[in-house]
Amino acid sequence: MQPVMPVHTDLVLLGAGHAHAEVLRQAAMRPLPGVRVTLIAREAETPYSGMLPGLVRGEYRHEEAHLDCARLAAAAGARLILAAATGIDPVGRAVRFGARPDLPFDLLSIDVGGEPQAGTGGIPVKPIGRFLARLAELESRIEAGGRIAVVGGGASGAELAIAVAIRLRGRAVVVLVSAASEVLAGAPGLVRRAVARGLAAAGVAVVSGGRAVRHEGGRLYLDDGREIVADAALWATGVRGPRLLAESGLACDALGCVRVDAMLRSVSHDGVFAAGDCASVEGGGRPKAGVWAVRAGAPLAENLRRAAQGRALQSWRPQRDAVAILGLGAGRAVAWRGRLAVEGVWVAHWKAWIDRRWMAMYQALRPMGADAGSVVAGGAGVGGAGDGGAGLGGAGGGAESGG
Ligand SMILES: Cc1cc2nc3c(=O)[nH]c(=O)nc-3n(C[C@H](O)[C@H](O)[C@H](O)COP(=O)(O)OP(=O)(O)OC[C@H]3O[C@@H](n4cnc5c(N)ncnc54)[C@H](O)[C@@H]3O)c2cc1C
Repeated sequence: MQPVMPVHTDLVLLGAGHAHAEVLRQAAMRPLPGVRVTLIAREAETPYSGMLPGLVRGEYRHEEAHLDCARLAAAAGARLILAAATGIDPVGRAVRFGARPDLPFDLLSIDVGGEPQAGTGGIPVKPIGRFLARLAELESRIEAGGRIAVVGGGASGAELAIAVAIRLRGRAVVVLVSAASEVLAGAPGLVRRAVARGLAAAGVAVVSGGRAVRHEGGRLYLDDGREIVADAALWATGVRGPRLLAESGLACDALGCVRVDAMLRSVSHDGVFAAGDCASVEGGGRPKAGVWAVRAGAPLAENLRRAAQGRALQSWRPQRDAVAILGLGAGRAVAWRGRLAVEGVWVAHWKAWIDRRWMAMYQALRPMGADAGSVVAGGAGVGGAGDGGAGLGGAGGGAESGG
């Protein structure tokens, strides 16, 4: 329940990413006395990455693949500010916005995700909300015989290329552009063959061995001089941190992600934590994927609780790897962990089960109490008591379906 004792700590959660969803769920289950929690969310709903390709393929409805930020905040008795933060002052301890006053904090946790390292022109797949809107707009204007390039030869790019091809079947041809000589280079052979079959079945052509640099005038230009005719280019390339992180003075890595120690605490500023794609864990780096953002949620929640109570923090020891599951379309998926891989219809059912179960944990949360609401200018404030739900589930002991 929102504080019945005086507030001694202002905990601000910047970004409604996967790790913060878990922090809020934990706060709903075990309230933090004397701590005022505020969630800053740019959009009213936050997408769940595991369901994104299924959403593009038309297998999920919008509300099935998104978490409602107001509901999450209400369950945790947290205030909600619906606004995009434009800056962080880690010394003066405040979050900045374009059009509203600074928000002071005692403890700040950052889970704002990343942005594709896109070339110029085209449509970045992040932020996902904006991407989905632009994809819908593209769908409405694309004419028969259109061509769409998806840039990025990793799991996200391959899965997205298949999903877009299925969605626009008969109207547009999709070309997947991979800088590496092979799509999903490094994945087990069974995975590469299954993905190649999935791409071919969806009618996706593959152009590999050239790095796309810009989309302009209906053409995608590669760094080796090749040009690909494409009405649109969707960038699903590797992720870097949003600019406001490096600009804040927080220690960041070369990709602009906040450097944190094993406790998920900024290496440069006490009282600041970060998790998910926007964080770079010193000595324990894991790929930028939703599954790792999900897994960081519970240790982040525990350490924010401990920091608020002035107790010693705990180190997060993530598993070495996680199961990755990639939807191939036509009701099939391929999963792998290390060198082990499986493919088939049952894998797609398994993925759907993991994803639905993960979402259900958060969608089932209820407001903490009817009297606990609060309103913050520029956003709705809410409060209340939540029920729990099972711990993070899925393959490999606590996973979302990796992509
Ligand atoms: C097409 C595609 C498919 C993918 N499929 C999978 C998959 O199947 N499995 C998997 O593990 N990973 C997948 N990924 C990767 C996955 O999307 C990310 O790794 C994951 O979303 C990272 O989670 P996060 O919590 O770090 O951030 P995010 O999920 O990106 O959440 C960040 C949140 O912060 C908010 N925010 C950002 N900036 C601000 C700001 N300035 N102020 C306020 N709020 C802000 C955003 O609106 C967003 O709600 C996929 C990615 C793509 C592009």
